[in-house]
Amino acid sequence: EAKSFGSGHACVFQSQMQTRLTEKKSFEADLKQALRNGELEIFYQPQVNTITREICGYEALLRWFHPKRGQVPPSEFIPVAENIGLIHELGDWVLRTACMEAARWPRLLKVAVNLSPVQFRSRNLIQSVVKILTQSGLDPNRLELEITESVLLDKNEQTLETLTQLKAVGIQIAMDDFGTGYSSLGSLRSFPFDKIKIDRSFIRDVTTREDAFAIVELVTGVGRSLGMTTIAEGIETEEQFACVKQVGCEQVQGYLIGRPVPASQLDHPRQVADCDSPFEYEGLIDVK
Ligand code: C2E
Ligand code: MG
Ligand code: MG
Ligand code: MG
Repeated sequence: EAKSFGSGHACVFQSQMQTRLTEKKSFEADLKQALRNGELEIFYQPQVNTITREICGYEALLRWFHPKRGQVPPSEFIPVAENIGLIHELGDWVLRTACMEAARWPRLLKVAVNLSPVQFRSRNLIQSVVKILTQSGLDPNRLELEITESVLLDKNEQTLETLTQLKAVGIQIAMDDFGTGYSSLGSLRSFPFDKIKIDRSFIRDVTTREDAFAIVELVTGVGRSLGMTTIAEGIETEEQFACVKQVGCEQVQGYLIGRPVPASQLDHPRQVADCDSPFEYEGLIDVK
């Protein structure tokens, strides 16, 4: 009869919920063990000057290689780490590892590290960043912290205070994924950013859509006027490269120039002057 029909459905539903909850718990438990099990690694992706094609620095990108799940993308595990409060431990590990590795690079290139909004809001942020810098011996000027627009939505005074303190230490600040959040152009003059990273979604369409081109051109211009470095994220084609170079974008990052690679695969070119060709990267050819 109707009643048992209904409760049967409720049972199936309940067991699906149960399965999902179990899977969620097991994912969280695995993530908590990932660091100890040596499943985490930092990959580095080059950022190059559009005109000279010299490497300016590398962005540190966290990778999780799970023995059974395979490679889990950061878009899946970072939010979980934030929810279960693990992001502080993971974030500190990324920062410490990236700073220690960068301190041993033969050239004084920058290392960019992503900072979760949860980390950014932590009371201990400055303290732990300074401690890590001191322990690694990395010049603070070589560290660039990437934050997203979402931190600007918080209480502005605290945000400004934190950014000002980081700047006082000598650290560079980059605004990541610019143009995708809800902050206005006004935030660019309210906060002390050194760099604007133009989001990949605009770069994807920059050669095919006038609106995307207009935005890239505008942000580059505003950045230049405000004395900030602009970098185009997600450059995959020669055409996109030519396009952002044409509007005066200072740096590029993307698969065309180089995919993220483990630290062991970073080849540190000595100096561009030592090379026969200034184009050190596979796939990157000269564009007028
Ligand atoms: P993001 O900081 O904007 O990093 C750039 C993302 O774009 C990276 O994805 C990178 O692999 C990818 N990418 C770079 N060039 C290209 C390209 O030409 N084409 C395409 N399609 N993609 C490109 P990934 O490594 O999967 O990281 C995704 C996001 O996860 C990052 O976006 C960042 O928000 C977050 N993330 C990564 N590592 C960390 C970390 O250590 N801490 C925190 N808090 N977040 C991290
Ligand atoms: Mg980033
Ligand atoms: Mg980005
Ligand atoms: Mg992104």
